[in-house]
Amino acid sequence: MKTTQNKHILGFTETELKSELKEMGIPAFRAGQLLGWIYNKGIINPDEMKNISKKDAENLQKNLRFEPLTMVTEQIAKDGTVKWLFRLHDGHDIETVFIPEPGRGTLCVSSQVGCTLNCRFCHTGTQGLARNLTHDEIVGQVWMAALRLGQWSDQPFDLKQHVENTGFDDPWMVEMLEKRPEKEEGLERARIISNIVFMGMGEPLFNWDNVEKANDTLMDKSTFGYGSRKITISTSGMVPNIGKIAQNLGVNLAISIHAPDNETRTKIMPINKKWDINELMAALRAFPLKQRRRITWEYVMLKDTNDSIKHAKMLLKLIEGIPSFVNIIPFNEWPGSPFKRSDAKTIEAFKNTISKAGIDVNVRRSRGSDILAACGQLRGETSKFNSISTEFPSVVMQYGTDQQKQKVSVKIVSE
Ligand code: SF4
Repeated sequence: MKTTQNKHILGFTETELKSELKEMGIPAFRAGQLLGWIYNKGIINPDEMKNISKKDAENLQKNLRFEPLTMVTEQIAKDGTVKWLFRLHDGHDIETVFIPEPGRGTLCVSSQVGCTLNCRFCHTGTQGLARNLTHDEIVGQVWMAALRLGQWSDQPFDLKQHVENTGFDDPWMVEMLEKRPEKEEGLERARIISNIVFMGMGEPLFNWDNVEKANDTLMDKSTFGYGSRKITISTSGMVPNIGKIAQNLGVNLAISIHAPDNETRTKIMPINKKWDINELMAALRAFPLKQRRRITWEYVMLKDTNDSIKHAKMLLKLIEGIPSFVNIIPFNEWPGSPFKRSDAKTIEAFKNTISKAGIDVNVRRSRGSDILAACGQLRGETSKFNSISTEFPSVVMQYGTDQQKQKVSVKIVSE
């Protein structure tokens, strides 16, 4: 009998699937066929895969799990950012965010249900940790997002319709949708989501095994085939696992630094008591950066807390000699948040101090803040989504059951 102990199809690389199929008495060549349906056509139910025999489909259904994540809500912000609430098989909810920008589409995935770390500026941190995500649930977010974004044109979702409904008219996205070849096969179809960042709910390095396996799967040529440069793991400073990012995966590294000194950092990030800035920096200086790579430093700007010129200079000192990119994030306030956003002048002065020292720096444009999809705002509460959607123009799609293809009712909420 099939149980939740059964492995999920989205957790396999082609090599792993071949040996799994062998044990089930199914020829190994079926692995390529199965993954082709799933990742090139967006078909995940073996009964719908035309070149899989009924007998093999039954065998597969008996031994593996195929159900995708259940979409609870989907919200599109005024700037085109899409936030999904996905329900896991045990009823927990997680959030995944798609951020379209000119020339790239970034998917921000969650790695845990909630988070233990309680960074004081972070909405997710207020809810505690329920559990780690499994590796197939991490891949499942990418698969569902690709499905919802219309990557496989025979799927019912029509992003173009969403564009019309919401008035979202990012020229890149509109052009990409118009030019998308209807019958193109293969990996290029995956590129609506060009980049993946582990910056959603949770601390990825506290769930290393699953994050590592998910990355292996996402990078496998027979699945999405992402290159290591297209994936970024962001950590708040779980020192013991930082080296593994380079050794085992070779993907990009982002550090949520947020303060350049122990006193300030401990105030806003309790993890700094366990691994302080000195330990963190020692691990980072030992981190074997690949050629032409750099560390991204995430720095949320909290009014009168970490945003002075003095802090900027201390940050420069801290990262001296490390190929770096500083990403300044204007704080996105959420209900009950203990901090305020730094004013524009202060942010500009901080940025200029970094930039004058010859370090690449960017002030991140807040994306999706009207649907609480911006950095540090994720929380995973259905009720919150609903209350928010009455205030902002967005499209909310409700799926009442686990049925992937059930009729979608679209509710357009006006301003
Ligand atoms: S910022 Fe990241 S690590 Fe910190 S509480 Fe939020 S989700 Fe956890």
